Amino acid sequence: MSTTYDPNTTPTDQPYDFLTQNDCASLKKSIESHLLFTLGHSLPAAQPQHWWIATCLAVRDRALNTSFKAMAEHRRLNVRRVHYLSLEYLMGRLLENNLRNTGLYDTAKQALGELGQDLESIVNKEPDMGLGNGGLGRLAACFLDSLSTLDLPAVGYGIHYEFGLFRQEFVNGKQIEQPDAWTRNGNPWKLVRPEYSVTVKLYGHVTQQFDDCGNASYVWEDTRSIIGLPWDIPIIGFQSSTVNFLRLWESRASDEFNLEIFNQGAYVEAIQEKANGETVSKVLYPNDATESGKELRLVQQYFFVSCSLHDIIRRFKRDNTDWNLFPDKVAVQLNDTHPAVAVPELMRLLLDMEGLTWDHAWGICQKVFSYTNHTLLPEALETWSVPLFGRVLPRHLQIIFEINQRFLENEVAVKWPGDLEKLQKLSIIDDRGAKAVRMAHLSVVGGHATNGVAALHTRLLKEKLFPEFDELYPGKFLNMTNGVTFRRWLMVCNPELTALINESIGTDWTKDASKLKALEAFADNPEFQQRYRDIKRGHKVTLCEIILKLTGYEVSPDALFDVQIKRLHEYKRQHLNLLHIVTLYRRLLQNPELKIQPRVFIFGAKAAPGYFLAKNIIHAINALAEKVNNDPRINNQIKVVYLPNYGVTLAEKIIPASDLSEQISTAGKEASGTGNMKLALNGSLTIGTLDGANVEIKDEVGDENIFIFGLTVEQVEALYAKGYNPYDFYWADAELRAAIDWLASDYFTGNADDFKPLRNSLLDHGDPFLVCADYRDYVDTQAKVDAAYADQTHWTKMAILNTARMGFFSSDRTIAEYAKDIWNLPSIKVQ
Ligand SMILES: *Cc1c(COP(=O)(O)O)cnc(C)c1O
Repeated sequence: MSTTYDPNTTPTDQPYDFLTQNDCASLKKSIESHLLFTLGHSLPAAQPQHWWIATCLAVRDRALNTSFKAMAEHRRLNVRRVHYLSLEYLMGRLLENNLRNTGLYDTAKQALGELGQDLESIVNKEPDMGLGNGGLGRLAACFLDSLSTLDLPAVGYGIHYEFGLFRQEFVNGKQIEQPDAWTRNGNPWKLVRPEYSVTVKLYGHVTQQFDDCGNASYVWEDTRSIIGLPWDIPIIGFQSSTVNFLRLWESRASDEFNLEIFNQGAYVEAIQEKANGETVSKVLYPNDATESGKELRLVQQYFFVSCSLHDIIRRFKRDNTDWNLFPDKVAVQLNDTHPAVAVPELMRLLLDMEGLTWDHAWGICQKVFSYTNHTLLPEALETWSVPLFGRVLPRHLQIIFEINQRFLENEVAVKWPGDLEKLQKLSIIDDRGAKAVRMAHLSVVGGHATNGVAALHTRLLKEKLFPEFDELYPGKFLNMTNGVTFRRWLMVCNPELTALINESIGTDWTKDASKLKALEAFADNPEFQQRYRDIKRGHKVTLCEIILKLTGYEVSPDALFDVQIKRLHEYKRQHLNLLHIVTLYRRLLQNPELKIQPRVFIFGAKAAPGYFLAKNIIHAINALAEKVNNDPRINNQIKVVYLPNYGVTLAEKIIPASDLSEQISTAGKEASGTGNMKLALNGSLTIGTLDGANVEIKDEVGDENIFIFGLTVEQVEALYAKGYNPYDFYWADAELRAAIDWLASDYFTGNADDFKPLRNSLLDHGDPFLVCADYRDYVDTQAKVDAAYADQTHWTKMAILNTARMGFFSSDRTIAEYAKDIWNLPSIKVQ
């Protein structure tokens, strides 16, 4: 066997075939060799997590081998790439997904079986990669899966947080946060690339310099440096020829010593100071849909944006010399405004480093960037105080001022001459009161497209948030309704239903989800219905075991599983759900003859550690659970469970077992939602408001297969215009009054003060999310759900029709739309 490397052959021609071949014997050999020679364990000594690592590495070898070919082809064709910039990626586990996407699942199961190991228990050894808060981070993860699946050249960029989203525990029903050291025992998917490290500058000040001809330039001096060290995670598509990478930047101290301290002989202190550089990527901010304005957060944003742009420019320069080609080769998508500092950073690199003129640089910027808006909540629209921004990024602040001045003069003042109000309203700098940089305005002005994430959200974006921008830039605002990857959210989390679908309509739907429609023909078929129901029940039995293990409560798989899983936020209205349960509990106590469909209310949600009212709601649900679950008077007709530490892996267990999906946000507040899509796909019927993507889900599944209630966006507005007083509803509805007052009594915890904050928010503080206004319709609609569940044949039909009609919500459809309408990105199939 020759051992000489021949650069003219592809990697598979080299004599390490067993590392890249997909037959069982090769895979087995590959796993064994990693166990022995990468991890240094003899087979008998290996623990399950060692088997997990060895198996991941065997899969990773094959992914890398595919990536070599894809990268070579991308380079040969000098392709256009999209670069997805996101501060969050909620990836979850990767092994099972990667095995399903590569088609290696059964082979791996067999290979491990022959080695005396069980694939399923090995898969469960993987810690979640939880580098995100909720929907925004999970969307980024679904998009990466679809980009590789559709053979689109893409790079994801983010931060390699040492600590992901906190681990949630309950003590006496209250949330406690624990650190999530997801990578402490190593993570076999990530590959460090020190050769692509980047140095990032911060702080310092800017001076103006002149050359011999009197041309001014700006020099950013006396800066502090940190190093960005990239970790690459291969993103394996489903039956595709492309493996893209997620590149996550870890911050490291730079090699520069503080010479002053050093020269005083304080060697240890000098090293210690260096440690500051390492804190930048230490921890993910645990806030969902709110911003904190903290300096470290701005540093995080700039750090990963600067590293990523340096990386993009390095790759561009490798194969190109003409800056005019940059927008042909590079598209950059900003996932919310978190990476919006990319606009002034690219300007700075082009002006100060590459010597381009302002107009040239600005023309490039506007062609490269596009921005996804994720929220209309005013408290979540990012702004940075001008003094803070100027201290951390003085040159960028200068550039933003210049962008703004040119924008106001050349565009706003031309469109609306003499209209000072328009200037003030559209300005990138908010100068009413304490000056602040409006990152959303910067993102709209600095790119060629801004998109909302559901039809309703995009309409409100155009009509309410950015009406003037929409007038100024016709066609710039687009809708890209969110989607989810059907690999993770059907094929991996529900292999039983996947098998039934494949058996009934074939597998075409796996590459074109709209073909799921063919299942409609089976909606009334008694045999199919029975199998569909059996699969659901199987998942419910499994979830019952998980519930028992995590909460100690025993629940019946024959009950209706009513599920609300999502971040804890007032706008999502877990407290509306809570009031319904209190109401049912009370009805059952007051009327011992009352018979309802037995129900298990299942919650999963983390609250931001500093979000007091959200934590009060968690405490209230847990206190209610303890009372209800231990009350013999209600004969087990209802149970309440709050599963701790909701995340991707728990979602994969809950979703296939759910009957009813709670999507009950105040109309106009949820931009899209994606949990709603995952649940409906798995045959869970939605009870929801006309908010976010619920509107489009209703259009797809049909009015008769969804439970819609509550005020519409227009009715919400009208109510506010007229003046909303929650007491009007409180006094008019005896059941609502009783539910709120009982909750705030000493019945549930023995302490009448415990849930006063919740009561106050609903009444004296004005009920900002209209819980009281929507209560009656919600409770009455829940009664319709109860009646519908009694007819299992009809319920199953509705569930099947939900599965059949959710094809539109595949993230493959969403990504295909982005590729066509925003990125102009062709698919590259590799032979
Ligand atoms: C899908 C998902 C979300 C988003 O849920 P919404 O109901 O859309 O808010 C949040 N967290 C996890 C773990 C998810 O998988």
